[in-house]
Amino acid sequence: MANLLSPGDRVVVPVAGYFGDRFAKIATAFGADVRRIDYEWGSAVRAEDVDAALAEAPAKAVLAQHSETSTGVIHDIEAIGKVTKKADVLLVVDVISSLGAVPYEGDAWGVDVGIGGSQKAFSATPGLAFVSVSDRAWEATKKAKNPRFYFDWALYKQAYELKSPENPFTPAISLMLGMRAALRRYFDEGQEAVLERHRILSAAVKDGVRALGLDLSGEHLERAWAVTAVRAPEGIDGDELVAKVRTDHGIILAPGQGPMKGKVFRIGHLGNYDRFDIIRCLAALELTLEEMGYPVKRGSGVAAAEQVFAQRSPRATLAE
Ligand SMILES: *Cc1c(COP(=O)(O)O)cnc(C)c1O
Repeated sequence: MANLLSPGDRVVVPVAGYFGDRFAKIATAFGADVRRIDYEWGSAVRAEDVDAALAEAPAKAVLAQHSETSTGVIHDIEAIGKVTKKADVLLVVDVISSLGAVPYEGDAWGVDVGIGGSQKAFSATPGLAFVSVSDRAWEATKKAKNPRFYFDWALYKQAYELKSPENPFTPAISLMLGMRAALRRYFDEGQEAVLERHRILSAAVKDGVRALGLDLSGEHLERAWAVTAVRAPEGIDGDELVAKVRTDHGIILAPGQGPMKGKVFRIGHLGNYDRFDIIRCLAALELTLEEMGYPVKRGSGVAAAEQVFAQRSPRATLAE
């Protein structure tokens, strides 16, 4: 917002969950004229709606999530990128929980600014964010009048382009060393293998919870490899379930946010996870549901997950 916008710039923000809502709030805080496109949470953003909002009046940028972590839904950034390109509008994408978990092709999709973080699929310590900046976005930043200093991209670029590259300010070195270790692990496993592991773990989670008779929430589940949102069964409060799984088994699920509070709970499978993390989680879920009075066939969730793993081991790609 500081690097791209001037006060009063119109931005279009699809809001289909907590992080979309936050993006709109950040833009408002930075003086933008925010045109929200509101969806029911759990929906996928439709490129046609973005197109229509851009046709109403000129805009500087579209701000969207790739992975809306509050609902688990992966938005079709490629389709939105075609719309923003046609309209000659910047596309700014929060890829914080998608980068390293689901396929992402920033340049090919026409993303101008992609914003990633250290703490999600890379499983590094929280505290670092990084951005990719297209040529178009570099041009835009020269004209952007919003105040900025510490996070002024130009300062980082200047320092980086020195003969001996520098940081404009003292960097968070300890966090960067952690991020380096995380990236080494990521590249050792291999980018494709990491994605395949996320795909398989998410398939196992989905089949596991379905085998327990629970319903999943959200559109386009086939591409939701980062987070699975599950509807709490009738008569069971999702927040209580999350709390009990944590207290009794030390496994941390995520509660529903906003309008989904208590109605869904979320299972994160992005990051440095493997088969037995999923199996343990499903076993804990079975035991807890049973204790809360929801009838389960013991072992059915775990069995469904094992069935997925028997077809293809997530680490097999690494071994091949
Ligand atoms: C985690 C996350 C963020 C960062 O939010 P924090 O409150 O700083 O953790 C931003 N966007 C998305 C989509 C996220 O999943």
